[in-house]
Amino acid sequence: MPSNAASRPQNVTILGATGTIGLNTLDVIARHPGQYRVFALTANSRVAELAALCQQYQPRFAVMLDADAAENLQTLLAGSDTVVLSGLAGLEQVAAHPEVDVVMAAIVGAAGLKPAMAAAQAGKRILLANKETLVMAGSLFMQAVQAGGATLLPIDSEHNAIFQVMPPGRLAHLQDGGVRRILLTASGGPFRKASAEELKAVTPAQALNHPNWVMGPKITIDSATLMNKGLEVIEAHWLFNAPADKIEVVVHPQSVIHSMVEYVDGSVLAQLGNPDMRTPIAYGLAYPQRIDAGVGSLDLFKIARLDFEAPDSVRFPCLRLAFDVLKQGGTAPAILNAANEVAVDAFLKGAIGFQDIPRLIEGVLEASTITPVTSIAQLVEVDQQARLQAQEWRQLETC
Ligand code: NDP
Ligand code: MG
Repeated sequence: MPSNAASRPQNVTILGATGTIGLNTLDVIARHPGQYRVFALTANSRVAELAALCQQYQPRFAVMLDADAAENLQTLLAGSDTVVLSGLAGLEQVAAHPEVDVVMAAIVGAAGLKPAMAAAQAGKRILLANKETLVMAGSLFMQAVQAGGATLLPIDSEHNAIFQVMPPGRLAHLQDGGVRRILLTASGGPFRKASAEELKAVTPAQALNHPNWVMGPKITIDSATLMNKGLEVIEAHWLFNAPADKIEVVVHPQSVIHSMVEYVDGSVLAQLGNPDMRTPIAYGLAYPQRIDAGVGSLDLFKIARLDFEAPDSVRFPCLRLAFDVLKQGGTAPAILNAANEVAVDAFLKGAIGFQDIPRLIEGVLEASTITPVTSIAQLVEVDQQARLQAQEWRQLETC
């Protein structure tokens, strides 16, 4: 970050500005116009939504992944000073631009990896929402953060909570912080109490109805299958250098405790708050200071009780699959991630059932060869191969 950064508003790039995390980030930024300036906004294909945000926030750059969408955006923004870019190169450019201080990495899925890597290599303050970056390429991404001199702040509410209750400066240093284990909380999703039989008949509309959080469709389905928690176990492994057996998943249906850290002296520290992503976003933007996030006080009398249960990886096999690939290492997590993206997309389109999601992922993992991770290019190739295998599995199983 430039030395005069504190004296002027911080320039913020929001990758995935039209999504739920992107919009929550803009909401927090709008509360602090003297401290943050929207430098660049990006989207995939939703042109009208990005055009409206550009009119409101007047960023220097706007990027659409899709070239035709970028042309449409250019037309909609005719006469404005916003420069419109397109493609992966445009995303990487605004993630690494020399005038950018902060990058919110909030693209969904594997598509977020390369822009997040560009921000890491350019030494930015990265607010990482895109957990798939760490699932696919945890070792390479953490190396790039260190080599680029970037500052990595987790935005996923659980990891942000863990970061808040870790000893200062302990990101990626679990072992020497006196930490015994991480307690990663999970709401349990909308089907926490559903029987195995009921799970077979789950529809996309039911799965999209999360009890506590308003999120994009992919992460909402991941929350219903518990794959989201599985991805978060892998995310915690890389962020906090935590082996799989030091991460325990605790189902906590109220989503008030966002996660906990247990120390060797028996102390357990927790971060609590209303389930509102603006809290971790504000924390990431202002760290180590605190700023108003627009989030109301926690009404403990109304909440009245906090419940805890063990997760059930028989009814929710995605959680077990994620622990398995973490232990396997190498390219296994990238394969799981790609297969999951295809499976979630197929489920949302009504092409496969809810319980086919873990079956498809397991089928792809069984058919794949796991190799050590060597480069981002290799992981992109692995990702593409796994997607092809997932499509083949789908055709075989559904014909
Ligand atoms: P949304 O689906 O709401 O938004 C996704 C954003 O990414 C949109 O701006 C979308 O653009 C853009 N996008 C989609 N595909 C591509 C692509 N191929 N290339 C470039 N941009 C793309 O997702 P969320 O905001 O819910 O989640 C974003 C990330 O944050 C995910 O990784 C999720 O796991 C993580 N996260 C989210 C939380 C939440 O509460 N929502 C909590 C914790 C983590 P367009 O609008 O044009 O499609
Ligand atoms: Mg989370």
